Amino acid sequence: MAYARERLEQRDIATERVLLLFGQAERLAADGDAEGATKRVRQARDISLRCNLRLPKMLKLRFCRRCQTYFTAKTLQCRLDPLERRLKRTCLSCGHSAYQPYSKPEKGPRRPRPSPPRRT
Ligand SMILES: [Zn+2]
Repeated sequence: MAYARERLEQRDIATERVLLLFGQAERLAADGDAEGATKRVRQARDISLRCNLRLPKMLKLRFCRRCQTYFTAKTLQCRLDPLERRLKRTCLSCGHSAYQPYSKPEKGPRRPRPSPPRRT
């Protein structure tokens, strides 16, 4: 019982640290320190692996899965593939690409067509 509680506490601490490291990575990337940002991402990923912590999707999309580069406008290329309905995300530092599906926006309620103007 005590062990389980300890593990939960460890996870809470790990979550806090991972979020902190991603915040630091974001700030460093904005300042132009790409290596520092990548280092923070690696540290955060190491912590999540050690503590069996699943990274939320929002964080997973922010770095390259292969080389752990933090994505900025200079390190990420996005291309839409409308036929396959997916977004191709290419890491510009290692060339790894990943696909992210997207769906059609849902249709709203049908509105009646405006009637054509009458001729007189
Ligand atoms: Zn990469």
